[in-house]
Amino acid sequence: MSDPAAARAPILSGWSLVYEGFDPAQEPLREALCALGNGRFASRAAAAEADADGVHYPGTYAAGCYNRLASEVAGREAEDESIVNLPNWLPFSFRIEDGEWLDVAKVRLAEYRQELDLRRAVLTRRLRFHDAEGRETEMTERRFLSMANPNIAALQTTLLPVNWSGSVTLRTALDGRVSNGGVARYRGLANRHLVPVEVSAWDSETILLEAETSQSHIRVAEVARTRLLREGQIVPVTTTVIEEPAWIGLEIQWEATQGEETAAEKVVALHTSREPAVSEPGLEARREAVRAGGFEDLLSDHVLRWEELWDLCSLELEDSEESASTELRLHIYHLLGNISEHTADVDAGVPARGLAGEAYRGHVFWDTLFVFPFLNLRLPDLTRTLLRYRYRRLGRARWAARELGCEGALFPWQSGSNGAELTPTIHLNPRSGRWTPDNSRLQRHINAAIAYDVWLYHQATNDVEFLAFYGAEMFIEIARFWASIATYDPARGRYMIRGVVGPDEYHDAYPGSDRPGIDNNAYTNAMAAWVLWRAHDVLDALPEQRREELSHTLRLRRDELDRWDEISRKLLLPFHDNGIISQFEGYEELEELDWEGYRERYGNIQRLDRILEADGDSPNRYKASKQADALMLFYLLSADELRKLFERLGYRFEDDTIPKNIEYYLARTSHGSTLSKVVHAWVLVRSDRERAWRLLSEALESDLLDTQGGTTSEGVHLGAMAGTVDLVQRACTGIETREEVLWLSPSLPEDLIRLRFRIRYRRHWGLEIEITRDRIRVSARPADVYPIRVGINGEIVQLEAGATVERPL
Ligand code: BGC
Repeated sequence: MSDPAAARAPILSGWSLVYEGFDPAQEPLREALCALGNGRFASRAAAAEADADGVHYPGTYAAGCYNRLASEVAGREAEDESIVNLPNWLPFSFRIEDGEWLDVAKVRLAEYRQELDLRRAVLTRRLRFHDAEGRETEMTERRFLSMANPNIAALQTTLLPVNWSGSVTLRTALDGRVSNGGVARYRGLANRHLVPVEVSAWDSETILLEAETSQSHIRVAEVARTRLLREGQIVPVTTTVIEEPAWIGLEIQWEATQGEETAAEKVVALHTSREPAVSEPGLEARREAVRAGGFEDLLSDHVLRWEELWDLCSLELEDSEESASTELRLHIYHLLGNISEHTADVDAGVPARGLAGEAYRGHVFWDTLFVFPFLNLRLPDLTRTLLRYRYRRLGRARWAARELGCEGALFPWQSGSNGAELTPTIHLNPRSGRWTPDNSRLQRHINAAIAYDVWLYHQATNDVEFLAFYGAEMFIEIARFWASIATYDPARGRYMIRGVVGPDEYHDAYPGSDRPGIDNNAYTNAMAAWVLWRAHDVLDALPEQRREELSHTLRLRRDELDRWDEISRKLLLPFHDNGIISQFEGYEELEELDWEGYRERYGNIQRLDRILEADGDSPNRYKASKQADALMLFYLLSADELRKLFERLGYRFEDDTIPKNIEYYLARTSHGSTLSKVVHAWVLVRSDRERAWRLLSEALESDLLDTQGGTTSEGVHLGAMAGTVDLVQRACTGIETREEVLWLSPSLPEDLIRLRFRIRYRRHWGLEIEITRDRIRVSARPADVYPIRVGINGEIVQLEAGATVERPL
């Protein structure tokens, strides 16, 4: 028989992610991959009986709940804003007679199985074990964070004494002594964000804990109601309250009988003062916990909501191995658990690493570029509200532009509570133990990403209201920024953008130079040109009156628009080697890296930057990229749009521009970001389906197998997760939403036999798309809406609600 204490690879099949056996080393990864969330709160899948101890790391986080702390780093004072690890609502443990409290590392495990049910968003742990006295016990634990009521979490443990009878003590608690200790690299920094406020027992089954964040003064309240049930009936019990500073527990004792199951359930209400319709979180949480039904009732409401979400968001595919389907489900599961209608109300952005980990301190980057395209066609309301997270911070972005001496608005590379730039100025290389300058805030291209997000959302939804009142203003202010940061070089007759960092963060200065940033990053310049060009279309899309109002309030003059037009035609794009888009000016002079040599020496060289720095070298010297940079252009813009952009700029766009550049940069990229393989797979979809599918398979496994070696346990990579789903949704189908047409030109990878999903396009809520190797079918549900124009492989047809169009491929 195999050893249950030994871990095995995860089993991913159908709708579940299963781990057999217990493996302390793998526990942090499992906690992140099996995390539960409802978009308002998320919790790591830590064992309920465990404290943070190096193996386990219970973490609960609320969307947008940040706090700032000052620390001394490398001799300097620095302030960091982090997503806050909230009081742990999980603690639930028991002991038999006066034995030890359950600790899976100390009992003899006969069975250990952890299962995440993706369809129902329920986590189950099943254990069978023998304690030191030879007593054999079976335990099943189930938990969820309600999607039906975002302020409810519930946990149920069922105990079955297999060969013994005796007294059992259950301890249920709320633990506010937690800190932010989930990321080893940050452990030298201050990490106590919570100030205890109150612990109290409400009645014999209910306990309360309140705390407040130290700087942002967000009040957090958790109320836990614990009950014992036998055969579905509540068992009357006497309880003992234990109060400690920032910690409160209840102990419940009962006589267990051999062969008889007892269930204990803990229903927890969580509230923060950041939520709407909450005046006093403690009071709300008390009311919520008292009103809440039992575990099973709450579960059934929760499951209903998830059914609805899956109905809107699933992607059914038949692939030859059937593994991709479940991997994609895992990714959709995490997206929906991190961003939902419950996020919408709390003014939060999309944290790059999800809500159940502390990597990047919960900050928001440009990763929405990968997330929104999926949401636009499924849950566009979410994109709308998440874009308003940026809009609310437009004032701050205007200020940031002013501080640089520019006009318009500059959004921060890393954003959190108030839209201030949160990118640290130094970072730790764990390989060398050295703190080195972090120039990644020079990624001005974040601005183009936000403008692109606005435009793509508009294309998919035709939501003129949003564009009129929020989107256009952001777009125009972003365009203004690009026009003012670009400087004219009369000798070359071109505009330049200097001192930036492109998506490839490995190049943040010229070799040996003290000046941070590089000049004329092709991606940044091309996207700036795109924004300045599209700004005219954005204005044209507005109702005339609104266009006039906005032009008036933003003091937008005709000559300013003319200037944008000129700059959009004269920004510089560098090239070398006869048609290779230089990642930035001077790129061609860098040295080639000995890729094979480094691979031989170091094995995994994804984080080449750390390897080189530890060797006293720097990636700035080499033609070596962390992730797709120039190639991002092929990812975001269709070949047609890019050709037009190049032509406007006066550059030639040859038939081989795309394949030539893909080959060139693919050979010079270490994929140090999980986003990289998504982009590379995408750009290869049409030219090299086999390679594209291989890269997609690798991207699908990057979190599941933690291929970056330790990063996933600090939080999943939401951008790459969404990107893989979107790749199947849009790249394999050729979906494009432009020029008022829903374009489709499928190109299924070899391994894909059938693909079926439902999108929301414009006012058509249920557009069913089914693609096989030789046929495509698009059906619109009956509804009282205007027909849409669908373009299949170039042919445009009018599709009425209730009708179907089918074409051979
Ligand atoms: C990548 C960025 C990304 C960030 C957050 C970094 O490693 O280089 O492109 O936005 O992670 O996901």
